[in-house]
Amino acid sequence: MNESCIFCKIVAGLADAEILYHDDLVTAFRDIAPQAPTHILIVPNEHLDSVNHVNAGHAEMLARMFTVSRLLAEQEEIHHTGYRLITNTGPDGGQMVFHLHLHLLGGRRLRGLG
Ligand code: 5GP
Ligand code: ZN
Repeated sequence: MNESCIFCKIVAGLADAEILYHDDLVTAFRDIAPQAPTHILIVPNEHLDSVNHVNAGHAEMLARMFTVSRLLAEQEEIHHTGYRLITNTGPDGGQMVFHLHLHLLGGRRLRGLG
């Protein structure tokens, strides 16, 4: 655990969040400032700063992040209308929290990237 990381604190139950899913590898909770009717963050329990730190040893965890995203899209009933999974990386990518995460966004028509 990274003591100064808000997502590590949420995973450990040391900071409040609306947790929707938790298992041995990943945790999912609602974004505090939702950009769409569904805005969920899916994070590894292990602290990784960003995609820049991902390697082949993370295969099971990455597969779990996507599988949980799919399950949550079904739970939120946005799987037919569609949704967007985003991972911001570094300053140009708009990353603000340096603990790897997927944004699951849906429930409205999202504009193009940019
Ligand atoms: P990033 O720009 O790093 O990809 O996105 C970070 C996201 O984390 C933002 O959408 C922001 O609203 C969300 N966020 C930041 N701090 C907290 C928090 O304490 N709790 C929750 N639930 N979301 C947070
Ligand atoms: Zn962390």
